[in-house]
Amino acid sequence: MERKQFQLNDIVEMKKQHPCGTNAWKIIRMGADIRIKCEGCQHSVLIPRKEFEKKMKRLIIQRDTE
Ligand SMILES: [Zn+2]
Repeated sequence: MERKQFQLNDIVEMKKQHPCGTNAWKIIRMGADIRIKCEGCQHSVLIPRKEFEKKMKRLIIQRDTE
């Protein structure tokens, strides 16, 4: 299976949408844990990378880093 590719500042769609109704999350921190921010309400969550990879559905927008 192909490994999901993502990087800082990418916008991703998760398997479960945020309660605010938006399903677009921006990756704002990468590490062992990944912090994503909801594009709708700006709420941010920190998730372990493994879990993030499981919950991420697809990449919506790929942004250039710097
Ligand atoms: Zn939200």
